[in-house]
Amino acid sequence: MKVHAIQTGLVRIKTAQVEGRGHGLSRRLAIFTDRNWTEWLPTFAWVIDHSEGVIVVDTGQGAHLLESGKSLHPYVRWEVAFRIDREQEIGPRLRALGIGPRDVKRVVLTHLHMDHDGGLAHFPNSEILVAPGELQTASGFVGRMRGYLPHRWPSWFDPKPLTLAAEPSGPFAMSRRLTEAGDVVAVATPGHTADHISIIVQDSEITYFLAGDTSYDEERMLAGKLDGVSADEQVCSATLAAIKRFIQSRPTVYLPTHDPQSAERLANRRLAAVREVLLPNVPA
Ligand SMILES: [Zn+2]
Repeated sequence: MKVHAIQTGLVRIKTAQVEGRGHGLSRRLAIFTDRNWTEWLPTFAWVIDHSEGVIVVDTGQGAHLLESGKSLHPYVRWEVAFRIDREQEIGPRLRALGIGPRDVKRVVLTHLHMDHDGGLAHFPNSEILVAPGELQTASGFVGRMRGYLPHRWPSWFDPKPLTLAAEPSGPFAMSRRLTEAGDVVAVATPGHTADHISIIVQDSEITYFLAGDTSYDEERMLAGKLDGVSADEQVCSATLAAIKRFIQSRPTVYLPTHDPQSAERLANRRLAAVREVLLPNVPA
């Protein structure tokens, strides 16, 4: 088994989205008043080259996102910007790895935000799995009001429901195996969206945690810092704490979608740094 990072262009967002400020509605509105942009961040998708068939996790950005500044939706129009060209979309990127879209057995989406479903058009022949609640949230006019782009989905898009069972996987209450071998497992990681999922890949002694947008980087996950878009702060905190417990329980490479370190961390199998609590110096 081999896991590849596929970079599909760059994105920048407001700093108040990466790290929430305040609580409740004011935390979610802070994105709109924040004048500070992040640096340009990568948007990664992931390929699990597995003996049971290739699994793609998220599809990254599409070149259509360059038109986001024309959107009537205030978030899409003002609070996010993209860099991508067609050759950076996931289809050409996969071909460069020697993987044709027809070789991809399954595509699993952590959630349906526009920088995760933007490459769906490259997978007309794959089985596509999406959490049913996420599909409902993102669909139709209400989905568009929420900032999703359902009108950009391919006409054939009809994903299979990725329904998780009440089978705990480590600290995660809900899970579902995606391979017969049981080495690729979807777990519920609600927070960033209510039905967000993450993918756990067990490759001999190393575990890869494909985190989607559970946090924008490893540091904020370890510090338990919430983003600015999660609707339920308690749920999001509990998910970050569960991920931290998971990482403490086994050697894990933590791979968020937009962490500038993710590709290097994967290439060098750099484990999540589980920090000890620093106690104040006690005079001897
Ligand atoms: Zn997202």
